[in-house]
Amino acid sequence: MAVAAQLFRLEQLDAELDQRLAAVNEARRRLQRDPESEAAERRWQEVRAEETAALREQKALEGELADLEGRIKRDHDRLYGGRIVDSRELASLEKEIEHYRGRRDAVEDRLLAAMERAEGLQQTVVALAQQVDTLHARRQTDRPALEQLVSEGGTIIAGLQAERVALAESIDPRALNTYQRLHAASGHAVSRVADGVCQWCRVVIPPKDIQHARAGQLVACSNCARILYVG
Ligand SMILES: [Zn+2]
Repeated sequence: MAVAAQLFRLEQLDAELDQRLAAVNEARRRLQRDPESEAAERRWQEVRAEETAALREQKALEGELADLEGRIKRDHDRLYGGRIVDSRELASLEKEIEHYRGRRDAVEDRLLAAMERAEGLQQTVVALAQQVDTLHARRQTDRPALEQLVSEGGTIIAGLQAERVALAESIDPRALNTYQRLHAASGHAVSRVADGVCQWCRVVIPPKDIQHARAGQLVACSNCARILYVG
């Protein structure tokens, strides 16, 4: 095989290896972690904590409300019980009832808001729990295919690597060096020539360069400096 053809094949192998390795790594990453699922779980826990706090607040306000109702009832009973006759005492009692009623109304408003908030959070918790379940189920469904991809990918990668080692050993070291340098610099060391044109940079290659490349010499494109492969 002419050296340019060897390098062309080498670059094909490198590209396929990169692609396969990336796919296997991605599958491994997805098997280990599922950021979407983790984010949903975190959000679910956060909202559950908010829900617990809202329910606690609701309960505290209910207690406060019951206490105020009790005070109002007690004062009301005293006011109309007939045992208090002093007008100043009665007026003071009325004022106290007024004060408790004002506080009761305020607590009622806050309680209503707290109940609404708790209800909203309860609904969100249910929706998030469903989302977490769906994501877990999807993860379980995806798992076998990902495991297969990792195991099959590993076999294919081993085969490609073996082919690459054998091919690289058969290539002239200087040509291999040139390839490594170009490949490392731009990710693309070899360009195919089709219809007399460098397929990488679209520049027309002089016929004598094509002849030399055909004859097995290492010829670089005068424009993009890539090794020319005349297939
Ligand atoms: Zn070129």
